[in-house]
Amino acid sequence: MGVDAMTLEQASVLRQRAGRLVAEVHHLEIIMLARDGLVRGSLIERPKFCGKAGCKCTRGQAHPSGLYLSRLEAGVARPRFIRAADREQVVRGAEAYHAFRTALRRWRAVSKELSELWDEIGKAREKEYPFPAPFLGGKDGVSGD
Ligand SMILES: [Zn+2]
Repeated sequence: MGVDAMTLEQASVLRQRAGRLVAEVHHLEIIMLARDGLVRGSLIERPKFCGKAGCKCTRGQAHPSGLYLSRLEAGVARPRFIRAADREQVVRGAEAYHAFRTALRRWRAVSKELSELWDEIGKAREKEYPFPAPFLGGKDGVSGD
């Protein structure tokens, strides 16, 4: 009886944990199912050097900061200047990209945790057969048939 009660309580705690993780997985999947385009890379703000002959930037005076999309190409970071006209779309795409990657990383971790949790829940829910003799005399006593 003590063992059964323990197992039931344990199963209930495991189920609550699983329920929270299932809800989180669902939330992450909604993020990953979105339709907007993803722009791979990191947004960085830095002074602009156009490098045109005779420009003040070639004498060390940078132009105002510009927004760049930096991404690894063959292992090397390649910042690319984002034109003003593309700025909004690139920023949105880069943010969506990061949201997607973050969600996917978390999804993998939660899925692994859930996979182990389902085994534990399965074990906690197992009943031995033959069933132990019913406890007689409690107020929830067995209904006779
Ligand atoms: Zn310049």
